[in-house]
Amino acid sequence: MTSPNLDAAGRYPAGSAAFPHRSLTGLAGLAPWEILFLLDEAEQWVELNRQPHKRNDRLAGLTIINAFFENSTRTLLSFEIAGKRLGADVVNMHAAQSSVKKGETLIDTAMTLNAMHADAIVIRHQSSGAVQLIADKVDCPVLNAGDGQHEHPTQGLLDALTIRHAKGAEFAGMRVTICGDILHSRVARSNIHCLTTLGAEVRVCAPPALMPADIEALKVHPFHDFDAALVGSDVVMMLRLQQERMSGQFIPSPREYRHLYGLTLDRLAKAKGDALVMHPGPMNRGVEIDSNVADLAQNASGARSAITTQVEMGVAIRMACLDVLTRRTRGLEGWA
Ligand code: ASP
Repeated sequence: MTSPNLDAAGRYPAGSAAFPHRSLTGLAGLAPWEILFLLDEAEQWVELNRQPHKRNDRLAGLTIINAFFENSTRTLLSFEIAGKRLGADVVNMHAAQSSVKKGETLIDTAMTLNAMHADAIVIRHQSSGAVQLIADKVDCPVLNAGDGQHEHPTQGLLDALTIRHAKGAEFAGMRVTICGDILHSRVARSNIHCLTTLGAEVRVCAPPALMPADIEALKVHPFHDFDAALVGSDVVMMLRLQQERMSGQFIPSPREYRHLYGLTLDRLAKAKGDALVMHPGPMNRGVEIDSNVADLAQNASGARSAITTQVEMGVAIRMACLDVLTRRTRGLEGWA
């Protein structure tokens, strides 16, 4: 494995031997090299996961708790698989079956997990900021698996890794259009932080009611016209309407929404010929994305869907994050 300060491309600053953060609560504020370090670390796990024997026991003896206060399919499963492939003991806590239902506070739950001497805690919570609150209270690294509409950092990283695999290492000059419910999307936020930090041009597109008021501060180009946003896009990332975070009516109807903001094959033709289609899942087929786009293997001009690749990269990224953040616990160089 290449040591970060020996990186041939000179991407890591000299003397920075390791990822310097104890927890991964968001991608906002990370340096470009820190993001690239995690992407580079994930490459070995992409390779391993493609082998018949997918096991490396470097986290043997460590305990990882996945505490999920909100529903999840891909993120929970991939964190569980990631921990197990690295040999850790992984336990899952579902809030629906926990003492949270009996009125326990988040801090008390955090203190309980801490007392069990977990070596890493992975948390998903419906409130923005809840994961940072727990990270400040416990002794071990905490990984944010999605907090409210704030951030979903491993999703941002796995999306960047997917783009890198499809389009090459250079993010500068790349145009990524993210379309959908930007207002309520933690995936949008983490992707915006990640991709702008790596030098990509990010366009965001949403109906006015689903666009954050302070969007310009995130160094992106906002659009309400999806057709205009798509022009020249290398990557088109579609997002679900986050109904569970909406109070009141944000769109006239799903039909009207699809008409203006759904990704159809006709509309995809407005992007670059070889555009990459992405979606973090779960998809609402026929609303924000048509099935023939979501399942597009590769058309004559090279456009294709990377949605299953995103899931594959998710396991590798989560292995990298668990490995990197537990290095100090394992007596290796890590956060100070
Ligand atoms: N799975 C992603 C998340 O947890 C996206 C979504 O739910 O729409 O944020």
